Amino acid sequence: MKEKIIFATGNEGKMKEIRMILQDLPVELYSLKEIGLDIDIIEDGKTFEENAQIKARAISKLTEGIVLADDSGLEVDYLNKEPGIYSARYMGEDTSYSIKNKNIIDRLEGVPIENRTARFVCVIAAVLPSGKELSARGTIEGYIGYEERGENGFGYDPIFMVPQYQCSTAELSPEIKNKVSHRGKALEEIKEKLRKILNEVEG
Ligand code: IMP
Repeated sequence: MKEKIIFATGNEGKMKEIRMILQDLPVELYSLKEIGLDIDIIEDGKTFEENAQIKARAISKLTEGIVLADDSGLEVDYLNKEPGIYSARYMGEDTSYSIKNKNIIDRLEGVPIENRTARFVCVIAAVLPSGKELSARGTIEGYIGYEERGENGFGYDPIFMVPQYQCSTAELSPEIKNKVSHRGKALEEIKEKLRKILNEVEG
């Protein structure tokens, strides 16, 4: 029988990305919605790791199978790594990203390119039915641009510049973004850790 994995997200865009990357694992993958769970978990951790663990542990109590959860955000070095774990809540959850992005650009007014360094971070936590826990962290390094660029992606993508491609993550195709992004890298790492464990169970 195939193992069941539940990914603790209600975000359809993320789920699509996750399905693409995990498709070669011999598992059945479900979103929270697909297993009929609609709950709001209070993310009161102080790090991406803690928040991902809080979500994975909470869902693991309510369902069977392997539970995965992620937490991600943008760290701007000049702003003491703000917005960090508060990326979704920065300036208020309901504030549009064009306002949030403009605010970050304004706070970096006059700051030269070498001091505009930033990164996206993604941590994925897993809780197995045995209670064993795993985690994986992925990052992508870049810098904050001088204006919003590009229509792809979401959130802070239009202001996050990737030096390797000389464009923002909102200008990358979804395929390339998945390859180089924080979430893509964390998913690849957790996939290999899960593959090892699934092989041990089988073999
Ligand atoms: P969460 O991981 O769903 O809690 O969301 C974290 C927040 O970080 C998102 O709402 C975005 O604001 C930001 N974020 C995380 N990953 C990305 C990305 O790939 N592009 C743009 N913004 C991101």
